[in-house]
Amino acid sequence: MAFITINKKNFYHNLNQIALKTGSVDKIAIVLKDNAYGHGLELMAKLASEFGIKHAVVRKSIEAESIEALFETVLVLGDKIVKEDKCSFAVNSLEDIKLAEKGAKVELKVDTGMHRNGIALDEVDVALALIKEQALNLVGVMTHFRSADELSSELFWQQKNFDKVKEQVRESGFENVRFHSHNSAAILRYKHFDEDLVRVGIGAYGYNELPIPFDEVTLKPVLALHAKKISTRVLQKGERVGYGGDFIAPKEMTVSTYDLGYGDGWCRGNSGQPYSIAEGLLILGRVSMDFIVLESTKDEVCVMNDAKEAAKQFGTISYEVTTALSSDIERKII
Ligand SMILES: *Cc1c(COP(=O)(O)O)cnc(C)c1O
Repeated sequence: MAFITINKKNFYHNLNQIALKTGSVDKIAIVLKDNAYGHGLELMAKLASEFGIKHAVVRKSIEAESIEALFETVLVLGDKIVKEDKCSFAVNSLEDIKLAEKGAKVELKVDTGMHRNGIALDEVDVALALIKEQALNLVGVMTHFRSADELSSELFWQQKNFDKVKEQVRESGFENVRFHSHNSAAILRYKHFDEDLVRVGIGAYGYNELPIPFDEVTLKPVLALHAKKISTRVLQKGERVGYGGDFIAPKEMTVSTYDLGYGDGWCRGNSGQPYSIAEGLLILGRVSMDFIVLESTKDEVCVMNDAKEAAKQFGTISYEVTTALSSDIERKII
């Protein structure tokens, strides 16, 4: 079976780099949503906790349940708001506050400019009053940047808006509220970090999606994807491979089928622009649901060890390449 290796040393290297930016491991919240960006939820949670990370972020309560024992706090970004010991829940709208269970821990998400979700700036006071009225426990106030990874000043005006929100929250008499706005790109861009927490996802997994390097931080990919050989055959010149016969052997050649396909979350791509695997070989013809064909006889091949590199070939971003990988693929720590 195809398998994924998780490089613990690289993961810890990345977390160390981020801790140097935040000044403390205690300020890192590891984002583990969507099966830890395809790396494996429980496995990455365990490694992060062993490193000393105390806070996690997920999307759903069901994800939180499987990892909460490992952390002091778990923030659930998008699920029903209930009273729970360790979990806090992002509040995305005034409606969320009305529907929340009394006593639940909530983190108010403020829309400082991304306009995806969160409370509008002019509704913050209403939201804070409603939180009091509904007897919810406000433990955090957060925002999300829409273009921390693009070189513009937008990040900074969003940050200014967020600074005003911080004032408003403090003036409303709330105490012990943690403030957080930074994702990976923001923490890589800012020279000085002065918030309570950074919500770091892609950076921890080894990718810097900034268009140019802002500082010397080097991150190392954590995930590598491997496939195993199923069978080998000799093609005569002119014989075709796979669906549609898109690849035509230009000479006699020995090829093998490997057990990875789009059914595993690997991108099908375009056989007209064949993907070059980590070992430099081109995928021959179309990617099938469960198979690819390569000119190789090796028992195992490394298909990808740098999702950013792969993303470039597929015209997408590292996030999509790793997150798409099926949770059924075996993951091993190396
Ligand atoms: C996914 C997510 C993050 C992490 O973003 P990265 O770019 O992967 O660091 C942070 N905050 C929120 C609200 C998110 O949804």
